[in-house]
Amino acid sequence: MDIHIFWDKRAPTGLALPVQRRMQQILDTPMKLCANPVRISGYSSTNQYYDAHIVLSALQLYKKRHAMTEPILLVLGDDLCTRSGAHLFGISREAAGVSVVSGTRLANEFWGLPPDDKLLIERIGREGLHEIGHLLGLTHCSNASCIMANPLCFDDLDAKHSWFCHACTKKHMRLHPFIYLHQIPEQGDAECADPILTQKHSDPLIL
Ligand SMILES: [Zn+2]
Ligand SMILES: [Zn+2]
Repeated sequence: MDIHIFWDKRAPTGLALPVQRRMQQILDTPMKLCANPVRISGYSSTNQYYDAHIVLSALQLYKKRHAMTEPILLVLGDDLCTRSGAHLFGISREAAGVSVVSGTRLANEFWGLPPDDKLLIERIGREGLHEIGHLLGLTHCSNASCIMANPLCFDDLDAKHSWFCHACTKKHMRLHPFIYLHQIPEQGDAECADPILTQKHSDPLIL
């Protein structure tokens, strides 16, 4: 089963291929990367964000029109919000097999910190895989370092590592025996050396 990554023209330039490679490495399954072919509506120029539900509906419609059955992840470069105005890093519609992540709030620059492409690749990769995990049947995980953890603030996001925990891997293997997830090593995960941001940001929420 291939997973499709649609990279929007306003998503971080030059990072599409490294993100695809990182996600493939972690999920150990082929992913098809292409420029976003979907006409996305739902952008509010007043608020400068996309309505996440309208974006998901556009993806769902595209998938139906093209008789696609495989999961789709769209990476956007603009902010993404619920109808109530809550900011999202990403969201999925499991029943339709579509998901979207926004790179905006995953970038250091958004928080007034120096740009760091390596960190941004990891964050987009993790959040992308978190949403794909939902599409593959995984739910939120209580292990804070697991990709399927549901962080409530920006610091929680960097507490995640680029692994699926044993419980999520076990569940995934039951659902999809032919896709292998990279797990947290038995003896801890000292190999993961992502910088941890020290400041707390409480406003962005993640689904
Ligand atoms: Zn887990
Ligand atoms: Zn989630």
